[in-house]
Amino acid sequence: MLVGLCGGICAGKHAIAEYLIQHQGFQLLELSSRSPHHITDEPDDDLRLQTSDFSKTGEAQSEFVFDTADSLLDFATKRWQERWVTTDIANGEVLDRFLLRPFFLLVSVDAPVSLRWKRFSDRCRRRQLDPPDLEKFVLWNDRHLYEKDIGRVYLTDRAHMRLFNSSSSLKELHQSLQALDLADEQRLRPNWDQYFMQLASLAAQRSNCMKRRVGCVLVRERRVISTGYNGTPRHLTNCNEGGCPRCNRGDGGGVGLSTCLCLHAEENALLEAGRERIREGAILYCDTCPCLTCTVKIAQVGISEVVYSQGYNMDKDSAAILEAAGVRLRQFSPPSNGLIYLQGSVGTAAT
Ligand SMILES: [Zn+2]
Ligand SMILES: [Zn+2]
Ligand SMILES: [Zn+2]
Repeated sequence: MLVGLCGGICAGKHAIAEYLIQHQGFQLLELSSRSPHHITDEPDDDLRLQTSDFSKTGEAQSEFVFDTADSLLDFATKRWQERWVTTDIANGEVLDRFLLRPFFLLVSVDAPVSLRWKRFSDRCRRRQLDPPDLEKFVLWNDRHLYEKDIGRVYLTDRAHMRLFNSSSSLKELHQSLQALDLADEQRLRPNWDQYFMQLASLAAQRSNCMKRRVGCVLVRERRVISTGYNGTPRHLTNCNEGGCPRCNRGDGGGVGLSTCLCLHAEENALLEAGRERIREGAILYCDTCPCLTCTVKIAQVGISEVVYSQGYNMDKDSAAILEAAGVRLRQFSPPSNGLIYLQGSVGTAAT
């Protein structure tokens, strides 16, 4: 695999690359020259002249140095089963080409600006240089991230994983990284459960129901048979345009369900598939645990398994019916794509 690290000045991308190299068998891929418009981690030209290797921790000098991003990518493509890391993704076009490859993982690293300024100042002092004041650091940092066409924020925006490195020491950072295991190749593409649950969540985005957006996907032999989302029936006014008075009253969950005109996501998916195509082995993925009226229909049409991600307010009752009907039920919640904090206990994600 190839891990691309990007992030703000002194956020810790080089420290993370160094960790991957020393502890997880990664090797560094570098570009020999950077684009003339590329803003480096240097505070300004004056300081850069004094500190030629300031942007890097200095320890990770690679034996794999390339003239162009394409030659770097070609090299990694032929050896993708080994572990590679780079911090040299310099522009959006290069990133687009990297993102096409199935072995590439883009990881962004951020940290509080006050902490990054402190790290940077400490580094200056270790090199007998005057640290910049906070205002100068902030201006320079803004340019590094947001300057039109060359700022780095387009990289962090597209990251597969976003890390927040507020760790106070290298030891803490290393412990967090060890627990996180960036080298886990399962991050490179979704497994079947993730894939179908993400499709269900995508279907939910089409919902027009004022109460709750729900999406559902019916699958057999790992093929999608049908999809559904909740809303009023065809030719009726959409729920969010006033089509269902009950939903638009905004009462609590489950209140007045029998007067609701909205079809549920599961009902729509079952109607769309038809009993003929459902048959033995069909799995229903739904981003919300089915309600009672959907549950009895699921049992009747012969679904073999129900997978849901979020609970609803009658999960126990639904579970009892499905169990009695011989339908397997399990919860699968896709991993959060929120910010991952690299401090204390890892894995707490802000959503
Ligand atoms: Zn509705
Ligand atoms: Zn309704
Ligand atoms: Zn339902």
